Amino acid sequence: MRKKIVAGNWKMNKTLQEGIELAKTVNRQVEDNGVIVVLCTPFIHLTEVSKTITKDSLFLGAQNCASEVSGAYTGEVSAQMIRSTGADYVIIGHSERRSYYHEDDALLNKKVKLALANELIPIFCCGEVLQERQSGIHFDVVRSQIEKGLFDLSPEDFGKIVIAYEPVWAIGTGVTASSDQAQEMHKAIREQVAEKYGTTVADNTSILYGGSCKPSNAAELFANPDVDGGLIGGAALNAADFMGIVTAF
Ligand code: PEP
Repeated sequence: MRKKIVAGNWKMNKTLQEGIELAKTVNRQVEDNGVIVVLCTPFIHLTEVSKTITKDSLFLGAQNCASEVSGAYTGEVSAQMIRSTGADYVIIGHSERRSYYHEDDALLNKKVKLALANELIPIFCCGEVLQERQSGIHFDVVRSQIEKGLFDLSPEDFGKIVIAYEPVWAIGTGVTASSDQAQEMHKAIREQVAEKYGTTVADNTSILYGGSCKPSNAAELFANPDVDGGLIGGAALNAADFMGIVTAF
């Protein structure tokens, strides 16, 4: 079933102690009222943060996983290892991974499959850069990312995926996509999913918006029929802002 989800991506922020404090505060404030809240922490925080979670609607996630199963891959963390910490989600294909670490569609597709094989729910990110939007190819860019990253999954596996549309020009810039820009892309993504997997799967897919989402604009964004929540970066780093977004539905 389509779910309302607000996921916080802490990126490379917070010491372990700071992370535990933030997680405890969020855990205290989360109400089990139908919105799923996910804390996507750095790898080293996962196990300790998992111990702070007592609410049914609060979940743990990682921000990346390895593209290989196990073995001699120095510095990597596998999907199986992530799962063993108690995490349920993993962000895959964030634009920072695509751009700084050159993660391409084929690699991301491998990661998605490893996540699913280890019972992690992928939060699969897609989105265009500013130049692509300005040249009018943003729908094609996102379409291609989704097709190459996800469309060889079975309908059953695709049904487990959460998609996050994150226009790269809006990430960490303070410039948010307008409510109309978000809705039209989310609608296009849902239509693409319907073409491939049928309307039932499409209707049940949660599609999150990410990019300078804050308490002041979350309600307008989330009010759109095809926007099912948010992937939150900067505003996830303090509990007041993050909870202001969680309660914006
Ligand atoms: C993100 O990095 O996923 C993100 C949405 O960041 P911000 O909210 O800071 O734009």
